[in-house]
Amino acid sequence: MTGYEELRLRHVRDAMAATGELIGRLDWPAARLAAHRGTELRRLVRTAQTASPWHRKRLEHLDLDSLGEASLAALPTMTKDDLMANFDEIVTDDRLRLDVVEGHLERLTGADAYLFDRYHAGASSGSTGRRGVFVYDWDGWITGYLGVLRQMLRELAAWPQAAHPPVVATVASGTATHIFNSAMRTFSTPRLATRAFAVSQPVAEIVAGLNDCQPDLLFGYTSALGGLARQAQAGRLSILPRFVIAGSEPLLPEIRAELQQAWGVPVLNYYACSEAGAVAISCHRGGDGLHLADDLLIVEPVSSRGQPVPPGGRADKIYLTNLFNHTLPLIRYEITDELTLLDEPCRCGSGHRLIADPQGRLDDTFSYGKITVHPHVFRSPLSRRRDIIEYQVQQTPRGALISAVCQGPANLHDLEAELVSRLTELGVPSPKVTAIPVRAIRRHEGGKLQRFVPLAD
Ligand SMILES: [Zn+2]
Repeated sequence: MTGYEELRLRHVRDAMAATGELIGRLDWPAARLAAHRGTELRRLVRTAQTASPWHRKRLEHLDLDSLGEASLAALPTMTKDDLMANFDEIVTDDRLRLDVVEGHLERLTGADAYLFDRYHAGASSGSTGRRGVFVYDWDGWITGYLGVLRQMLRELAAWPQAAHPPVVATVASGTATHIFNSAMRTFSTPRLATRAFAVSQPVAEIVAGLNDCQPDLLFGYTSALGGLARQAQAGRLSILPRFVIAGSEPLLPEIRAELQQAWGVPVLNYYACSEAGAVAISCHRGGDGLHLADDLLIVEPVSSRGQPVPPGGRADKIYLTNLFNHTLPLIRYEITDELTLLDEPCRCGSGHRLIADPQGRLDDTFSYGKITVHPHVFRSPLSRRRDIIEYQVQQTPRGALISAVCQGPANLHDLEAELVSRLTELGVPSPKVTAIPVRAIRRHEGGKLQRFVPLAD
């Protein structure tokens, strides 16, 4: 096995070599992007037919030469349940069995690491609460990372020479099973210093850290940034970021306004997922709307029954095809986020299609008197556990009641103990957490699950 740091530095060099190409594609015209997607789709399906036993069975009838975006509807769709039930047969390297990847994830306590000197893995419960496991190959990890940062890197390159290299601060997941968190660690260099704060840290600690590092870019979960904007308004946080970037949760108009007021700079929205990295990113040059990553993904807006929804209409969900991660071919993979594809090109002249700000609801934060607890405090230990496939957290006066759909017999006591200790650290007095196994969690109409249920006022 090669040492982590040696692999990481090689990976950083490869990422730097790929940066120009990925930034360049931001300026590709629509026709070139469409042609590129067609080529990449055929390349992905060829890999899936050759190296993924599960996909081979489903795709063997396909004539690759005539395959294009227009004929995409002929391909079967897949869900997260399909992925988790057939993981070993879907991956294109048969060493990447689910139990091996899960074992790797369990060992990721706070540090980024390679699997078989080549892969990265992550786990997430996404917006539905259903746990998923994802694995990226060497190049896919680079592309996923640059897909998130390339627009910012282009801006940074255009800035006049600053006295110091730009500092990026993130206020997001602190766990290495979260792909964005571990990719930031993989690719951290002195030329782009990153300071990562965990959203589960006490707010005063995050504020002190940000005051100390004075970030040029402030990146974070929408709800966490909202809290920091209030700290800035109150005079406790004094930083001068050039951009504020919100992601992972819907950027509701009132939160966007609050962030803009606090710092008076452009507030960009990221729509991202563990399956594909950045799906769409706000344009700060042309106005409203987010540019889709039209070179890296195929996004199909559809109705709840899977019928295509034309531009201008709100889709109930999307089918997403990840063109850049051949290790885990996700072809027409269902993501149940509502999305509206806009009917006009962006005023900035980009050839990438536009979507409206994704809506939806924020996971609720819990308040215990003056102590506010971000949902991530619960989300993170829950998504690390392979035996919990779905969950709901209900606030109780002194803590929480967690309903968990488990695989096999579950021992939830260590989860309870971990959460009690996290809540104690955050200042909740004598917290009590109870986790119970359940068969299923009742959903709202439309299939959405309210994962975090605060106490009624
Ligand atoms: Zn634009």
